[in-house]
Amino acid sequence: MLLNHDVRSLLKYASDYTDFLRAYAPISNELLFQDIGLIQQLISYCRANIKAYAAQNSECYQNNDEIINKTHLADKTKWYPEDSVQYLDTTTGGTTHNVRFGYRIWKDLYKTIEGINHYNLILEEFNISKPLNILYFGSNEINTADALITQTKSRNVLISHGAYSQAQIHTVNYGQLYFTDIYSFYEQIIAYSILHNIDVISCSGQEVASLKWNLDRLKINRRICSLISSTGCKTNISNLVELKSKGIIDNWCDHMRCWDGGASFFTCKHHTYHLLDNLAFTHSIDGKLICDDYFSLASPFVNYWNGDYATIDEQYIRCKCGRAYRQFKLDRVRSTDMKILSDSTTILQSLIDHDSPADILRIATKAETIRIITSRSLTPARKSNIARLFPSLLVLFTVEGPIDG
Ligand SMILES: [Zn+2]
Repeated sequence: MLLNHDVRSLLKYASDYTDFLRAYAPISNELLFQDIGLIQQLISYCRANIKAYAAQNSECYQNNDEIINKTHLADKTKWYPEDSVQYLDTTTGGTTHNVRFGYRIWKDLYKTIEGINHYNLILEEFNISKPLNILYFGSNEINTADALITQTKSRNVLISHGAYSQAQIHTVNYGQLYFTDIYSFYEQIIAYSILHNIDVISCSGQEVASLKWNLDRLKINRRICSLISSTGCKTNISNLVELKSKGIIDNWCDHMRCWDGGASFFTCKHHTYHLLDNLAFTHSIDGKLICDDYFSLASPFVNYWNGDYATIDEQYIRCKCGRAYRQFKLDRVRSTDMKILSDSTTILQSLIDHDSPADILRIATKAETIRIITSRSLTPARKSNIARLFPSLLVLFTVEGPIDG
């Protein structure tokens, strides 16, 4: 456990902010356990320094105190600090191409922050011991492999769920079965998870909803894994709560690590949503989620609005897990990252508004594919009407209707 005086000594660590971050990153997960005054002091230090760094190294931040948005960052020559650190090129996430937003991550600390400070943090919080078996739904690419699941190892911290893990990765392939028999697809995945003693199922909120529905359909009441580690599940958290209450999973974690100026958070074992104020400070101005990311040296996100809306308390309170936190709620998530999906959602919403509201439950997207999940079977005419809205995508329909008993 880090002691208060260790954090204090960090504040005087170096005159160079880059050196400070290198020293701070490996212990930053301990910050939120400290006295609230000290947490605020260190956050102020980080925010002031990244602001000064950005003003010094990035032209778009010079003499500019207004809220920064993507328009300001469009000209990379005015945004990227000129080779100040080694970096990785990356893009914002999204299941569709077209509107990806390019940015850079500081290479030196990528594994520390993404691996140790995020995925390992989750495993430690839920006492998942190593080595471990991960069932990974992460890829959105269509896979032509014959096998439903492929076993691999990976050095990618996103896939192996941490930096030091020797995890066995069981990757779900969106191959033939996904298109021909979606019920069998989930039935086989559930059976596989039980057979292979899967520790962690790593998937999206969409997958959680379909897993839950298929578990109900198959009337499976036995444990399928220890932890469901999911991103973006907040809208259907009741599925996870119910799975845990039935003993089908031991625990769940909803989490997000944003490098591109959004909210980074995770749920602890007491199901409290914790913003990761140790890595980036997010606050709400006129309902907008504004972020200062302490570690984004290669492409700074300071006083930055990514398009999300949130309500975030200013006051810290102490969770039973020991971390200080501010209550927050994401009110509306940006839509520009996934333009096609966003447009589809808008189209679907108008369809829901003007057609049969109860029928369409949600949509799930993979590369070049959109699956419309409905509560009852649609007529062929209605299916073709919907399919016409997405001329460039393969449109699939799945019924996840009410289940008796
Ligand atoms: Zn907590």
